[in-house]
Amino acid sequence: MNVLLIYPRFPDTYWSFRYALSFQGKRAAQPPLGLLTVAALLPASWNKRLIDVSVERLRDRDLAWADVAFISGMHVQERELISIVRRCRALGLRTVVGGPITSSLAHAALECDHVVIGEAEDLIDGLAADLERGTARPLYQSAERPGLERSPLPDLSLIRMQRYSTMTVQCSRGCPFSCEFCDIIEIYGRRPRTKEPAQVLAELDQLYDAGWHGPVFIVDDNFIGNKVRARLLLAAMSAWQKAHDYTFRFITEASINLADDPVLLESMREAGFASVFLGIETPDESSLAATNKLQNTRRDLLDSVATIQRYGIEVMGGFILGFDTDREDIFDRLVEFIQKSAIPIAMVGLLQAMPGTQLFRRLSREGRIVDSGGGNNMDCHLNFRPRMNAERLIEGYRSVLSRIYASEPYYRRVRSYLSRCRPQYRAHFSFANLRAFILSLVRQGILGRSRASYWKFVATAATRHPRSFGTAMTMAVMGYHFQVMTKRVLAGALDSVPI
Ligand code: SF4
Repeated sequence: MNVLLIYPRFPDTYWSFRYALSFQGKRAAQPPLGLLTVAALLPASWNKRLIDVSVERLRDRDLAWADVAFISGMHVQERELISIVRRCRALGLRTVVGGPITSSLAHAALECDHVVIGEAEDLIDGLAADLERGTARPLYQSAERPGLERSPLPDLSLIRMQRYSTMTVQCSRGCPFSCEFCDIIEIYGRRPRTKEPAQVLAELDQLYDAGWHGPVFIVDDNFIGNKVRARLLLAAMSAWQKAHDYTFRFITEASINLADDPVLLESMREAGFASVFLGIETPDESSLAATNKLQNTRRDLLDSVATIQRYGIEVMGGFILGFDTDREDIFDRLVEFIQKSAIPIAMVGLLQAMPGTQLFRRLSREGRIVDSGGGNNMDCHLNFRPRMNAERLIEGYRSVLSRIYASEPYYRRVRSYLSRCRPQYRAHFSFANLRAFILSLVRQGILGRSRASYWKFVATAATRHPRSFGTAMTMAVMGYHFQVMTKRVLAGALDSVPI
């Protein structure tokens, strides 16, 4: 059996990092880890190929080679995924669709032959056997969420790692919290399931043996969802990093209660964690309470961020506008918060009511759902009727982006971050980083409209933060991506939803 695994193009958002990747000559931020894991679960006798449409073209001859196409994606990839399904079916190719998108879109909307809802570890054996016998059913759905001890090593032989800026490892799935807008807990559950430390180390070994050095994103829903297991794992990762000259720089996602646990923070520093993404959402306590983000309440959020930064860990922040309790002053308050927080990478989006979430169910009951949305929280499409006037909300959203990603305020945030947060290790030399540095000097320092701010920033970084100069230049390049994306949002030039 010839199986073609296809990952649809990821649309441009802040998360795509598209305009920063071009500095390093990379084509996408991360490989499709879910499909690489599915590939490892498929029968060894099958011939497998993978096309990630963000890094290479999907050609008709690729489709002609295959007996079956396995297509996976998230809600935000809906438009591209469905066009791929249609293309396969037009050529008579059998299609299987899986991944988070199947939990948020109805079976019929996916237009494919077979839908897989749930996690691959429980379902792939049965599906593969049925496909070989020619008896595959339209729907495969697991009743339970599998333990991760059976999760195999992802099949890295299917990708060219150099095309990506970051490699990925998953240590756990699920999160114990219950934020109203969150689809993760609906898909992966509220009881975090974790891999054994030995499994994670085997994945690190595999990356190292394949020649990878540099950033590794631990793509957990919440790395500290089970703190006891996280501590155990961190001890093993620390020892591994020591034995391998701290070759990896880890990035992950966690809840803000990380700030309350100095032991955990120290362990993360020792293991080489350089950045953590926190869902901060809003500085408004009443919105946090209303959206059930209780772990962010009854604390000084700015203090919590600063505590994490003091451990040499950069904080990236997720922020949402459009809560029912948002008032007219929320836009100014959010800008002020972000500037004070020294968070350079602030992912600000409009609230989305994702199908399957508590929020979607509530708004459905209230008769406020407009459509299923497209999962892109930057394209200014609201899939529900907000309490605030919709035009005012979108205008306020755009004003926040334009203010936080203008050159001066952005570089000011990076300078504050560099003063607070001294990175633990110098970046390893790489030709990709050298190329990024030279291109940054040319594109931002010579050709850029904000070159005066740029040179002021470079001079400050070189004189006041020489040990962090590599980090400063990375932030300058990241700033370029956020500035271009912001311009596109302001110009209304992002793809709109839904198809
Ligand atoms: S903390 Fe994050 S992952 Fe956990 S429920 Fe809230 S939004 Fe979802």
